[in-house]
Amino acid sequence: MSNQLSDRINSLPVSQTLAMAAKARELKEQGKDIISLSLGEPDFNTPDFIKDAAIDAINENYNSYSPVNGYADLRESICCKFKRDNNLNYTPNQIVVSTGAKQSIANLVMVLLNPGDEVLLPAPYWVSYSALVTLAEAKYIEIPSSIETNFKITPAQLEAAITPKTKLIFFNSPNNPSGTVYTESEFRALAKVLEKYPNIYILSDEIYEHINYGTPNFSFAAIENMYDRTITVNGVAKAFAMTGWRIGYIGAPEWIAKACNKMQGQITSGANCIAQRATIAALDAPVSKIQYMVDEFQTRRDLMIDLLSKIEGIKTNVPEGAFYIFPDVSFYFGKTIQGKTIENASDFAMLLLEKANIATVTGDAFGAPDCIRISYAASQENLIEAVKRIAKVLA
Ligand code: GLU
Repeated sequence: MSNQLSDRINSLPVSQTLAMAAKARELKEQGKDIISLSLGEPDFNTPDFIKDAAIDAINENYNSYSPVNGYADLRESICCKFKRDNNLNYTPNQIVVSTGAKQSIANLVMVLLNPGDEVLLPAPYWVSYSALVTLAEAKYIEIPSSIETNFKITPAQLEAAITPKTKLIFFNSPNNPSGTVYTESEFRALAKVLEKYPNIYILSDEIYEHINYGTPNFSFAAIENMYDRTITVNGVAKAFAMTGWRIGYIGAPEWIAKACNKMQGQITSGANCIAQRATIAALDAPVSKIQYMVDEFQTRRDLMIDLLSKIEGIKTNVPEGAFYIFPDVSFYFGKTIQGKTIENASDFAMLLLEKANIATVTGDAFGAPDCIRISYAASQENLIEAVKRIAKVLA
């Protein structure tokens, strides 16, 4: 009966990150010794001080609908966080709390885009950007980059991609999947181009901001003349090991926040009330409280770079943030390994899954067909074993 479904859902691609995670889970249940490096999900527990705040909220009977855009005191905490970490001045009426940063982005594209509008996606980009833009009946235009430029786009590339139909551009730093972090001066150079096109809005996805190994984060909205047209997206999933709690938020011009509020008033009525109370505890805490996770991620990154660099044909950059390695594996295209001819990154990822029991995600899903994404949000023991198996299959 799937032909009875809407064109909208029939043309929507499955989320490759979630699909690969589901596949790994399924194979594990069948008894296979799978190491899943597919999902971008911290393998830590949510810190106790956050869990305690949630337990308190239950005992204090937080069980009713919250305001659609989030509790007023949570929106205050978010404003303080934006000031403290990003030097951004927002007031609570510019904040909308949603069911994960994914919903924040979904709201935004739904309220801002008309059919036929064009959205620029510097590649590589997170899998759901392109799908959500398509859902909003707009068209996404990729701006390619490669490992040679550390997966960054240039102002000239940006300028060349702009057309009269361009309405929105996505920035994501630190980037999923490449781990690339744009510096302040690089962002300012890109903003110089956008200055000339006042009808283009900017979505700055900063969900990985705390998982950063050195290059200071810079928020696009902190550029004076970009503030009024930038929507800053963030959330607690990655920094606080709270992926399942599903809390994301935006800071935006008030008219955009109001529209997102209206949109989610018809879709979810607002985010989960207990998770919102827990988020206040997370955001009010000093960032130093989560440093132990960042330190561990950095150790794993160094470990992975070291181990992968010993395998012929796996070309890596050094990711400066997030918890992914995004190697270029095009060296293997056209080669036959264990009876399987590798035509592209999807074949390569399947080879790793079938012959090494290692789940990764193909770069195609991120607009980078020469690469695969390896999440190192896994124990060092598993990472060492995973690379050992990959090396054996490729040897
Ligand atoms: N953002 C994470 C990832 O890229 C979680 C899965 C998803 O929502 O895509 O793996």
